[in-house]
Parts: sequence; structure tokens; C-alpha cells
Amino acid sequence: MEEKRQGSCLCGEISYVASGQVRPVVYCHCSQCRKQTGHFVAATDVDDRNLDVLGAQQLTWFASSPSAKRGFCSKCGSLLFWKADGSERTSIMAGGFHEPSNLEAAAHIFCEDKGSYYEITDGLKQYPKSGR
Ligand SMILES: [Zn+2]
Ligand SMILES: [Zn+2]
Repeated sequence: MEEKRQGSCLCGEISYVASGQVRPVVYCHCSQCRKQTGHFVAATDVDDRNLDVLGAQQLTWFASSPSAKRGFCSKCGSLLFWKADGSERTSIMAGGFHEPSNLEAAAHIFCEDKGSYYEITDGLKQYPKSGR
């Protein structure tokens, strides 16, 4: 049976289903993720054809750079999605999934931009930049 993972924002106005295979979770420590979330981001990634969003009228996209945008709930502020312009994939914030999410973490990226107030000690691979 095909895997399905459900999630939502904090207030519940936006919910989503990610079907099929999703990428392992990557932690992003870049300054944009830090600023938007107050800490760092943990996100998986899915093909757009396998992502269904309900309540998308509440979804606001913020163009955080010339090449990417970040989707959040305009009612409760939950960060839900990240999307590179022109990409057919959407990153989904791991914390928004209902548990058990059955997600696994793979790596840390943009470690050179991480906050100075914490250390990365989980033994996963650490990339100074995007890791690509
Ligand atoms: Zn919400
Ligand atoms: Zn980031």
C-alpha cells in the first residue's frame, strides 16, 4: 500500500497529505530558516504530484530570495512549505506532520550559518552549504 503522511498548520486551517516516497529529513541552519522559525528548519521533500493541500486559500507565500519562496499559514503563522522557483518538488516542514510521521533525518545543511548558541551533536553529516 502506498504510504500517506498527513499534516497541518497549528490552527488546522491548512492540512495536507504527502503520498508515496518522501526524501529523508534535512536540517537547514541558514539565516533565512533561522529568522523565519526562530531556530532551524527540519524538512522533507516531495514531488508536487504527490502533495495535496487543503485550505490553500490561507496559505501565504513569501519570496525569501530571488529563487525560492516559503509558504505559511496566514492565520496562525506556521511555516509549512519551501519551494524553489521552477521546481516540481515542495519541501514540507517535518514538524507539521501528525505523528507517527515515520520520517528519518539524513543531514544538516548550511552549517556555516548556524546559530552560535547550539551545537550539532547527532552525528549526521554536516554540510557548510547546500550539500548539493
Ligand atoms: Zn494555521
Ligand atoms: Zn535554510
